[in-house]
Amino acid sequence: MKNATATAAKKTTTAKTPATKTTAAKSTAAKSTAAKTTATKSKTASKSTSSKGIVKAKSSAADGLRELFVDSLKDIYWAEKALTKALPKMAKNATSENLIAAINDHLTVTQNQVTRLEQVFEIVGEKAQAKKCDAMEGLIKEGESIIEETEAGPVRDAGIIAASQKIEHYEIATYGTLCAFAKTLGENDAMELLAATLAEEKEADVTLTEAAYNTINFDAAEADEK
Ligand code: FE
Ligand code: ZN
Ligand code: FE
Ligand code: FE
Repeated sequence: MKNATATAAKKTTTAKTPATKTTAAKSTAAKSTAAKTTATKSKTASKSTSSKGIVKAKSSAADGLRELFVDSLKDIYWAEKALTKALPKMAKNATSENLIAAINDHLTVTQNQVTRLEQVFEIVGEKAQAKKCDAMEGLIKEGESIIEETEAGPVRDAGIIAASQKIEHYEIATYGTLCAFAKTLGENDAMELLAATLAEEKEADVTLTEAAYNTINFDAAEADEK
């Protein structure tokens, strides 16, 4: 195995740095990476930037797909709960009856998604626990800014749709990944629940697109002419 074949050599190009020899061996991959970083730094101001930007894992870091899956569940659990508070605010600031109905409808759906996530936690034998989702926090904040930066009416409605679709797309990406993880882990019951939510997020996205194309964007464009 040590005789580097062409492929093996390709795979291990990062191992070139000789500075690591002394420290490496004994510990886990993550730890030795960290050791490498310090060793390289203290030796010379090496021009090899290979260690630059490498992040040291926290002690609580996931070391397998299952743990990453559970961490991701905690993240989206926080996100869905945050949305149950954010959606009513968006509805309150919307004008179009159609849009208000769509948001309120998705609020009910979202509340059910929170419950569904609790079922997923139970299926995989984990405690339902929310962990702050930085992305959703940011997307919600951006939605609030769009509301502040638009006059009430069709223009604001168009902005609310834009912000909402960013949120739905984040959820679509998240649940797509969660379904793939669940499938790989053989958690088929969990996967079915996650797939049901994924379908709802896609449906919400389509509804928002239709609201925009059918009326709201045109009404907002008309406002330009006034
Ligand atoms: Fe959702
Ligand atoms: Zn997140
Ligand atoms: Fe942004
Ligand atoms: Fe959603």
